[in-house]
Amino acid sequence: MDSPRYRFAPSPTGFFHVGGARTALYNWALVQRTGGTFVLRIEDTDESRNSPEWTQGIIDALAWLGIDSSSPRFEGPYFQSANAGLHRDAAMGLFEEGKAYWCDLTAEQVQARAKETGGQGYDGHSRDRGLGPGPGHVLRFRVPEGMTVVDDLVRGRVEFQNDTIEDFVLLRGNGSPMFLLANVVDDIEMRITHVVRAEEHLPNTPKQQLLWDALGHAAPVWAHVPVLVNEQRKKLSKRRDKVALEQYRAEGILADAMINYLMTLGWAPAGDTEIVPWERIVGDFRLEDVNHSPAFFDVKKLAAFNGDHVRMMSPEAFIEASQPFLQGDVPWAHERFDAGTFARVAPLIQTRIGALSEIPAMVDFFFLADPPSDPDAWTKTMSSDFAADALDAMSAGLAACPWDAESVKAVLEAFTDARGLKLGKTQAPVRVAVTGRTVGPPLFESIQILGRDESMRRITAARARID
Ligand code: GLU
Repeated sequence: MDSPRYRFAPSPTGFFHVGGARTALYNWALVQRTGGTFVLRIEDTDESRNSPEWTQGIIDALAWLGIDSSSPRFEGPYFQSANAGLHRDAAMGLFEEGKAYWCDLTAEQVQARAKETGGQGYDGHSRDRGLGPGPGHVLRFRVPEGMTVVDDLVRGRVEFQNDTIEDFVLLRGNGSPMFLLANVVDDIEMRITHVVRAEEHLPNTPKQQLLWDALGHAAPVWAHVPVLVNEQRKKLSKRRDKVALEQYRAEGILADAMINYLMTLGWAPAGDTEIVPWERIVGDFRLEDVNHSPAFFDVKKLAAFNGDHVRMMSPEAFIEASQPFLQGDVPWAHERFDAGTFARVAPLIQTRIGALSEIPAMVDFFFLADPPSDPDAWTKTMSSDFAADALDAMSAGLAACPWDAESVKAVLEAFTDARGLKLGKTQAPVRVAVTGRTVGPPLFESIQILGRDESMRRITAARARID
């Protein structure tokens, strides 16, 4: 048997959607496991909405996801617009065989007739009128009698009575091919054996299967993967939800985490953890195991996956991945940034972050002349009855203690014990004095790295501000 040929067929009409990314990854995983081919076809026939920049965005996004166009398993990109001649020839062939016919009704006339008869859609008005091509005439497919059975690897067996399928349009009045036709003719031309795509195309499938048959080819294996929904169980939409893959990438979601998370939308690897490397996914992924109910795209869960993947990185890889977030639009003056300091801080924050975009707020106090100011954090922590005394105790203790995190901690502990308090409480004003924030990397290590003079200067300044 020839090796399977999968395809991914996006329309370049906007930012690359996380749902598209999931579909692409499903196809890519299957190609890796079966030794097949991944065909990228850009369905660029909607001229009013296409743009070359979206096409480039798709190719870049796929590359980021590890779907590498230089791989021997990758074929394309092909452009659907280049095949318009083939689409028309196929349609004319169907006409010559009596499997399609011309119709002169406009869309408005079709609607008006449906309304009159209480029917739905097109009623087959021109089936036997023997019309030829003419200005504004559309070419319609003559849906045969009987039943169409779609065997879908995810949805199971779905039956469609052909008398519920209207004679759909193949060529528009201006001669341009419709999506249903172009998509099938391209799949046939590209010898596609497996169509794995979004569930929203399921209603198209019986029509497309009829076309495969009419064109003399056995239909491919179908698999329609579940839609992605948001927290309100509504289909993810560009207007409502954050759907652009690029945006998650810019926020510092790692490619490995995104790949891992997207694969688990509707599917789960065997075993008790969903955090698995790509090699495991390739070995285990089966379309038959994909759940057909809608999958919740949970941004919080994605951040948790990302955190797990961040923690799996080597310290060097983490420092490397952090670089884009330490440069450019960051709140500190560039001359104060110090790579050596960051390298010491990095292991402390690697265990604490979700997305890499959280890094600047975790480390900015090291590189700013003064800690960032947060009035809420200040009020919350400095209004306690022990805040001033805690800062006094720290100023005095830090002046003389050995300079390591343990000793810094011992100074605050001595004060805390003497007052019968808890370290969790007494740390808060010290943290805000030194870092400006209520959360951040471990405090005593941070003070050690910031240095004795600068830490004491900040604590003294905060103490003065309380008065
Ligand atoms: N171009 C179609 C889309 O982006 C995909 C069609 C298909 O996968 O068959 O929705």
